[in-house]
Amino acid sequence: MIRLERVNKYFGSLHALKDVSLDVAKGEVVSVVGPSGSGKSTMLRCMNLLETMDSGTICFDDAPVYSSLQDGVRRADKDRSIEAFRAKVGMVFQSFNLFAHLSVLDNITVAPIHVRGVSSSDATHDAHVLLEKVGLQAKAHAWPHQLSGGQQQRVAIARALAMRPQVMLFDEVTSALDPELVGEVLRVMRTLADEGMTMVVVTHEMGFAREVSDRIVFMADGRIVEEGSPAAFFEAPQQARTRDFLRSLWERNRQLGGAVSL
Ligand code: ADP
Ligand code: MG
Repeated sequence: MIRLERVNKYFGSLHALKDVSLDVAKGEVVSVVGPSGSGKSTMLRCMNLLETMDSGTICFDDAPVYSSLQDGVRRADKDRSIEAFRAKVGMVFQSFNLFAHLSVLDNITVAPIHVRGVSSSDATHDAHVLLEKVGLQAKAHAWPHQLSGGQQQRVAIARALAMRPQVMLFDEVTSALDPELVGEVLRVMRTLADEGMTMVVVTHEMGFAREVSDRIVFMADGRIVEEGSPAAFFEAPQQARTRDFLRSLWERNRQLGGAVSL
């Protein structure tokens, strides 16, 4: 459904993505794991065209959306195709970034009304359905600051879903939350996965990655070092770099007395 082909990205002299190729099938849940600074967020941002690429191609349903090679100039194919593509790809970030001056309901309806041209009554109806899905039907008229971090993040997920995306990208969406609030957000993500949503999930929640993903992608130093089924990845990693990463997680878990789910 969405495919990166040999994507390279530089920040000045820093080579942040090195020939990254990734193919995500419809309905697939791919977890992306790896040490901090390995390029996970940059890859997701390229998948949503929030970041320009220096070389490589992104395809959606086999049609190139973005190609960087015309005249050596970085250029989107057509502005309109970029917009259409963005609407298909929802993204949720570590910081929820709800609109502080809008109610929960208005946070969810504003983009469908103003970007997709949905009527206010249809958007409101959809928003209530989505709030029920994320377990917050009682909070429609609350303000963001009245919600816990976990609740705000669930509203952010509902807001992204309101655009009816075909793929959802999640970038460490539980990393800023108090530990007791992580589970409620992961439960929503698990429900989405069970419903067949295509998802790319950057996460440190190894329990979630193992149980919910169809595939794990391990990144280090701007490259995809290894990918495989959760069982293969956790039980029989092929690369030394992967084994080091898993060992360091295991070590940290031991030091924390088993607090990190593995
Ligand atoms: P991860 O999400 O795996 O922690 P990132 O994709 O955020 O990694 O970052 C990959 C590398 O690119 C890091 O070295 C980071 O410092 C660098 N980087 C990310 N964004 C920028 C930016 N906007 N400007 C300069 N360097 C950046
Ligand atoms: Mg990141």
